[in-house]
Amino acid sequence: MVKICCIGAGYVGGPTMAMIALKCPKIEVAVVDISAPRIAAWNSDQLPIFEPGLDEVVKECRDRNLFFSTNVEKHVAEADIIFVSVNTPTKTRGLGAGKAADLTYWESAARMIADVAKSDKIVVEKSTVPVKTAEAIEKILTHNSNGIKFQILSNPEFLAEGTAIDDLRAPDRVLIGGRETPEGKKAVQALKEVYAHWVPEDRIITTNLWSAELSKLAANAFLAQRISSINAMSALCEATGANVSEVAYAVGKDSRIGSKFLNASVGFGGSCFQKDILNLVYICECNGLPEVANYWKQVIKINDYQKSRFVNRVVSSMFNTVSGKKIAVLGFAFKKDTGDTRETPAIDVCKGLLGDKASISIYDPQVTEDQIQRDLAMNKFDWDHPIHMQPVSPTAVKQVSVTWDAYEAAKGAHGVCILTEWDEFKKLDYERIYDSMQKPAFIFDGRNVVDAEKLREIGFIVYSIGKPLDQ
Ligand code: NAD
Repeated sequence: MVKICCIGAGYVGGPTMAMIALKCPKIEVAVVDISAPRIAAWNSDQLPIFEPGLDEVVKECRDRNLFFSTNVEKHVAEADIIFVSVNTPTKTRGLGAGKAADLTYWESAARMIADVAKSDKIVVEKSTVPVKTAEAIEKILTHNSNGIKFQILSNPEFLAEGTAIDDLRAPDRVLIGGRETPEGKKAVQALKEVYAHWVPEDRIITTNLWSAELSKLAANAFLAQRISSINAMSALCEATGANVSEVAYAVGKDSRIGSKFLNASVGFGGSCFQKDILNLVYICECNGLPEVANYWKQVIKINDYQKSRFVNRVVSSMFNTVSGKKIAVLGFAFKKDTGDTRETPAIDVCKGLLGDKASISIYDPQVTEDQIQRDLAMNKFDWDHPIHMQPVSPTAVKQVSVTWDAYEAAKGAHGVCILTEWDEFKKLDYERIYDSMQKPAFIFDGRNVVDAEKLREIGFIVYSIGKPLDQ
């Protein structure tokens, strides 16, 4: 029986391994992590992450051929194929601070694998890593092993949070990069055989190691670039009276462009887009390509601009000040169907409103109060000027309350900001909300999820990203 071990039981390691266990009942899959609370949660009824469909998959396989454990070394020693899915955040200090990937967790995982391995292993990069990381990992593994042979593969993960289970069940593609040696090809074949249990052959792409590593950074950069492109258009739409939804529809009908990922919004978030573009920028700079680096930097600059533009719109619409006014924030997660708040635009929007002394009342169906308070208290790293920006002061944090439903958040508020596109926000009783608010009552729709015309009929003053404004 083939044994698989995955180091890192996070948003990627947990769901990807659950899908392998589901589709390959004859493969034993162990997911290991140094975080005991995370593993305990994976072994309980309250999984550590919210992802539609994940509970069912885990329930079906757990303790059959899917195991979650803190016994990292035991499972690594026993495995034939080791996926490494640890976090690879942006470095916050030292060389490359603010841009380069911090590979500390990866390096310590690699050293541990070399220490405990008693037989040859295939080591798979599941984390998103800079191009050429496999070369460094090979050095670490081979210089610390006792004659044991390691083959390194790159198998980046393309799942999107919120649709992870569907994405894993029917991926657009599975990408495997390996060395072009006989041993490398054998390792690629072994991993292909795992995916071939459910992924059609024409969807499994094999490349050299560097192409696979770079493709993941490129894919995230292209996705984020599309969002920044439509967001840049949304600013122009507001200035000219064009409607960004109509523009996106017309542009997306061109089959060379396509209609997906063209929704204007308050900005992209999540743990990956910004981090991976920064990483790409750093790699370009290190390779003497400053013009290419500047090109990709612009994607992040537009994203930051979109968030501050939104805050400015809220403040200017509300008679140039939100001081002492209550603002309801609906949605804090970086997108719908996840509880993940990493790099969510809601953090910057809330900080901007708090900076103008608003008091804010937040509701999100999947995000806890602790998480929100922690996110707002955190320092933000400014990658252009590597100094720590001011966190929200303890007094400002007191101006934040977290409620259990949208109606409670909106009660007595002067304005409502919709920052996540949760489906339930489309179905709210907006007449009830209007009646409970101060007048004039404003709605700032940062995701274009509500029917602005209907809300105007109720009496709201509505701002929708990239749409003609109320007079
Ligand atoms: P995460 O922070 O949710 O999970 C990483 C886990 O690794 C943590 O639980 C941590 O405790 C564990 N870990 C760190 N060092 C360890 C060690 N030495 N031994 C055992 N466990 C260790 O991160 P994530 O969102 O799952 O992302 C993991 C990687 O996948 C990142 O490189 C990310 O860029 C990439 N990725 C993420 C997504 C996404 O949507 N989240 C999608 C594709 C790729």
